[in-house]
Amino acid sequence: MPDIRPTAGSGALVLNATYEPLCVVSVRRAAILVLSAKAVCVADGEGILHSARSALPVPSVVRLTRFVRVPYRTHVGLSRRAIFARDGWRCAYCRGPAETIDHVFPRSRGGRHAWENVVAACARCNHTKGDKTPAELGWRLHALPAAPKGTAWRVLGHRAPDPRWADWLDLREPEAA
Ligand SMILES: [Zn+2]
Repeated sequence: MPDIRPTAGSGALVLNATYEPLCVVSVRRAAILVLSAKAVCVADGEGILHSARSALPVPSVVRLTRFVRVPYRTHVGLSRRAIFARDGWRCAYCRGPAETIDHVFPRSRGGRHAWENVVAACARCNHTKGDKTPAELGWRLHALPAAPKGTAWRVLGHRAPDPRWADWLDLREPEAA
């Protein structure tokens, strides 16, 4: 699982009519869904939203009133933040705080920019490693890099989950780091 820092109020989790998690939207967007009866609020966040005519508790989780068929995004986009999140912001070689992205098999030697070949690394390890492979240096990777999988990743990406969403997202998935 990515990171579990609580970021209350950062958004609302949208569930399908079947309670399956779909995506995260802004609190404002979730409130519009509720006010237009396209969704019902399942869990409140903190605070009250005021509109011209009504007041509504800040929605934290909403459920669509009608089932929507959603084509699954099976591929998690490879971004710097997503790599850091997958690897828990730790260097894949020394477990220190990561600041850079390292290509395990160096790009200069044909290494691919793909989930299986990128890891978070500290600046020192990255610099020392240069264009060598871990094997050439006698280094071991803390874990074999792989593309992240699971509902939480599909819905959240690199976003930190709100603790109030835990009942709907399986946040106990094994760490992909
Ligand atoms: Zn390091």
